[in-house]
Formats: sequence, structure tokens, C-alpha cells
Amino acid sequence: MNAALPLPSLGCETAPVLRERGQREVFCGLTGIIWLHRKVQDAFFLVVGSRTCAHLLQSAAGVMVFAEPRFGTAIIEERDLAGMADCNEELDRVVDRLLARRPDIKLLFLVGSCPSEVIKLDLSRAAARLSVKHAGATKVLNYSGSGIETTFTEGEDACLAALVPDLCADASEAPSLMVVGALPDVVEDQFLRLFAALGIRTVHSLPARRSDAMPPVGPNTRFLLAQPFLGETARALEDRGAIRLDALFPFGAEGTTSWLHAAAAAFAVDELHFRRVIAPGRERAKRAIAHCRERLAGKRITFLPDSQLEVPLARFLATELGMLPVEVGTPYLHRRHLAQELALLPAGTLISEGQDVDKQLDRVRAARPDLTVCGLGLANPLEAEGLTTKWAIELVFSPIHGFDQAGDLAELFARPLRRRDVLKV
Ligand code: SF4
Repeated sequence: MNAALPLPSLGCETAPVLRERGQREVFCGLTGIIWLHRKVQDAFFLVVGSRTCAHLLQSAAGVMVFAEPRFGTAIIEERDLAGMADCNEELDRVVDRLLARRPDIKLLFLVGSCPSEVIKLDLSRAAARLSVKHAGATKVLNYSGSGIETTFTEGEDACLAALVPDLCADASEAPSLMVVGALPDVVEDQFLRLFAALGIRTVHSLPARRSDAMPPVGPNTRFLLAQPFLGETARALEDRGAIRLDALFPFGAEGTTSWLHAAAAAFAVDELHFRRVIAPGRERAKRAIAHCRERLAGKRITFLPDSQLEVPLARFLATELGMLPVEVGTPYLHRRHLAQELALLPAGTLISEGQDVDKQLDRVRAARPDLTVCGLGLANPLEAEGLTTKWAIELVFSPIHGFDQAGDLAELFARPLRRRDVLKV
């Protein structure tokens, strides 16, 4: 029974962090295109990369047969790599052809890759040049999704940070709220309804769903990060005078309450009104989580570094479902943005940043947690060794934020354990 479990003491905010800089097993930042291209509906992502980059995107995002795709790859061939062709001229030709055929594209991202970095193709100059050429029709920006520079979710951070210098200055007198991070539309709409019910009038999202609806920014902007991997974007917004609201990330009943409360406090929403507005959603979340608690409470879990969601998810699992985090690994640890999260992790949890994959796998084998959250490449070998795993990438592709997704989020962790029990039977 859950009631018999001893409550762990909390607090990892000052815990030492194991920093590793060895071989890592994480997707590159191109992966972000898979969810970003669905979010900004008149944008196109042109990866300037190799056939490997094209294969990654095609296999991860699926081939779109019936729709016009909103991402593609300008392939760098061997003669480009050998310096036998003028890559800038070829890139201009590809972009001209693309925009002539697709006038619906209003925002074009040139996305850098390992090969474009190796040949030192300057995509920021190319974007500036092409923006002038296509002024009035299409804006051209650039960012890097290269595996040399970025891991997995950092691609979204780089993309959103590239948008910030281009945002209009906010000249309004009254403060406005900005929700930062690409959320599924249905989840974004749930939050917008809650903010409206709280009486917070002006709420913007970054990214917006269309390129001409990107939010303004200025000293009156208060922003909430919806994702824990947006360090560069936050810095760029702060450089424009915006103020970050510190909160837990909106996972589970408590995380979502804290996140909404930070906005309510910044906009002087009456405390009783706040409680009244969030009560139905909070109760729904608690009820939805409860049925997984029995299966998950007391189970030990290790996160290998992958999506940078690891720390807030470990906090959710520890505080709301009674799980016991053994090791919480993350590619990068943004201590300032995660301070509240770390304070709620059970004392004694090993926090690690970066990866040395062999050493980390040795720690997993020694600890033998009930559940290991890891990338696709590591899951099968660990399963073969009798360890139960959860694919980290599923947590990025599933709607998991907010009150109404809290039950599904808990279920994502309960399912592999249930499957293990069924297979044992
Ligand atoms: Fe591979 Fe680099 Fe292309 Fe990513 S950007 S698919 S790591 S070559």
C-alpha cells in the first residue's frame, strides 16, 4: 500500500552534479523540425545538409505523400564538400526555386547541419541576403540543428531564439504575458482559456501559429517557459527587456498549478479567484493521476540524458506518484530555470549533466532501476538485459503539459511496467 511508503526528504537544489563529457547517444537538433513544422503553419524548414540529414527527417517525420511538405533538405554533395562548387550560388538557386513554386511560404528557416558547419557555409549571411531578395514575400532566418552544436530539443531553442531579434517592440502601456515553447494547439488553447478565466487579458504564444502573428516583446512582457530546454530563447527575450516568471514547469497537478500561479501573481489576480478558476482542472488532474499511483509508487526510475525534460518529469513522478528517482541525467542543466524543480527532488538523487554512455550504462546495470527512460538506441539493448525502458522521445511527441494531460503523462510511465508484468505472467 502507498500509505506505508516512507516519504523521502526533499531537496537537490545544492546537490553536487556529476558532469560527464564523453560519448553521448542523443539525436541532433534537426529533430525539432518534426514538431515545429506543424506549429508554424506558413513556415518552411530547409535543412542545408547531407543525405543522412534527409534520411533522419524522413524516417522520423514520415513521408508526406498527400500534402505539400513544410520541410526539406538542400543536399550538400561531394563536390560541394570538396569546395568544387559555390554553395552560396546553389543555395540561392534552391531557395528561388522553392519560393517560386510555394508562394504560401512566408517564413523560411535555413537550418544548419554538421556538413554545412564543416564546410563553414555562413547561413546567417545567406539568410540576410535572401531576406533582402525576397523582401515583402518571405522572411528568411537561420539557426543550427547540427549534431556538433546541438542535441535533440536544443533545435527548438535555437529556432525560437532566432525569431526573437525579429519580434516587434512592444509599445503598449499594460503588461502582457507570453507563453514560450511550441505546445500542441489543443494544449495551448486549454492554457489560453484558463488565462482568460483568470482575467489576464493579453496573452501571446511564441511561436505563434502564423509568421505574421509573432508576439511583440519589451519591458512590459512577462514570460512563462513552457519547456525547460529554452535557455537561449529566454536569454534573448531578457535581452529585449522581458521578465521571466519563475515557476515549476506545467507537468502534473502541482506543476501546472505553480506555473499558472506565477502568472496570476504577476498580474495581481485575486488568490481566491485563482483557486476557484483552477479547482476543476486541478481536481481532474489529481483524479486522473491517482489510478497510476498504485503501480508507480515506490518504483525506482533512472533518466538517461535526452530531451532536457528529465528534471521536471522526475519531480512530477517523485512528488505526485511516489516514484524514487535513482539518477536524473540531462544533456544540460539550467540551474536557474530548474531551481524550484531541483528543490523538490528527493535528497540523494544523483543529478548528472552530459553523458559518458558506457559509464552511465554501468551505473544503470548496477542500480537496476524498475524503469529506465532513454533514447531509442539504448532501449533495446537494456530490454535484452532484463531492464524495463521507456522511450524518451515519446515524452516529447505526446501532449503532456497541463491539467488535462496529467493522467496521460502518468500513464506513459505506468504502461511499460504493466507490459513487463503481463509478459512475466
Ligand atoms: Fe547527422 Fe549531423 Fe545531419 Fe544531424 S545534422 S542528421 S547529426 S549529419
